[in-house]
Amino acid sequence: MSDLYRFLPEELDTVVTGGGHPRYRADQVLHGLYQGSAVDLQSLAGIPATLRALFFEQGHSVGSAGEVRRVVSDDGETTKLLLRMGDGTLIETVLMQYPDEDGGKHPRSTVCVSTQAGCAMGCVFCATGQMGFERNLRAEEVVAQVVHISRALREREQHVTNVVFMGMGEPLANYPETLRAVKLLTHPRAFGLGQRSVTISTVGVLRSIERLAEEKLQVGLAISLHAPNDDLRRRLVPTASPTSVGDLVAAAKRYAKTTGRRVTFEYALLDGLNDSPALARELAALLVGSGTHVNLIPVNATSGGFRPPPRGRVLAFEAILREGGVNCTVRVEKGAEIAAACGQLRTDEGRGLISADSL
Ligand code: SAH
Ligand code: SF4
Repeated sequence: MSDLYRFLPEELDTVVTGGGHPRYRADQVLHGLYQGSAVDLQSLAGIPATLRALFFEQGHSVGSAGEVRRVVSDDGETTKLLLRMGDGTLIETVLMQYPDEDGGKHPRSTVCVSTQAGCAMGCVFCATGQMGFERNLRAEEVVAQVVHISRALREREQHVTNVVFMGMGEPLANYPETLRAVKLLTHPRAFGLGQRSVTISTVGVLRSIERLAEEKLQVGLAISLHAPNDDLRRRLVPTASPTSVGDLVAAAKRYAKTTGRRVTFEYALLDGLNDSPALARELAALLVGSGTHVNLIPVNATSGGFRPPPRGRVLAFEAILREGGVNCTVRVEKGAEIAAACGQLRTDEGRGLISADSL
């Protein structure tokens, strides 16, 4: 008994041919799922009734995410969705659009997916971390977030161009389901995104980074570092191991070597906590020559009372990294006013999304 969105194409082939149907029927089913964004067995267009009956008899269904609420940012480029999973679990998914040069008709459309309801890592400045862990999402529930947005975009003659695993939860603490979701989203017979259009962001589950490297995928990896030394990092990421900083830099180098893809370190800048020139120099010394890139993220407001540094301090931090020979950019945040920016995703009572009601 499974959701058809869970099956990799090869697995679906087995179900279809095992039931006495030709293999091309599996392609029709996949087309109905990923090009048709089917929401139930009935809406799977163009397949014979006998095949639909086979799925039904075997207990297979077609799941979908139910849209509970949609909030759009003032500039229209960021959309946050509150989605309900089959068992009632609520999660958030964000669509970020970046207009193209010829007027925004075919913008880059990046979906930021959640991989867990809540998160167990407890990062002090992250709204999701502060709500605690509820449960892992299944691969088909991750795929459902993308399919849901894909359906909405198709109505505007647009499509999903990128997926980032940067929503609620720690993707590499839910490794098997995250990997299956990546395969479904990038399989040419399923959702069909290029592997290079997918990025996984992790707080640094070492064993899973190693495993991911061994999969030999072309998926991008971002590691949330936030500090150049272990003492400070453990204050910001309480679940980090006592040697996480050095371990993560080594893991990033290995990932880059095995996959050929450059790794990004994310560094949330917190006013007065990790934004000093001395820490910038320490970070530069740590990363110079590692071939990695640093993405500085002035922290977004959450209930923890953390503030972004003044602009001048952000730019000074960036300059020190550059002078120290480290590639670096400052992230332009989108969607802060609708609490859709990094670390603001939270679905418990009265926070985040719910407060956006007043918009
Ligand atoms: N668990 C993964 C992916 C989800 S968090 C991870 O931690 O990487 C995605 C990114 O948002 C991470 O880099 C995280 O550090 C960052 N983030 C969390 N809270 C934030 C906040 N309040 N402001 C800015 N970035 C934040
Ligand atoms: Fe979890 Fe990432 Fe938030 Fe940390 S920043 S609590 S790992 S979602």
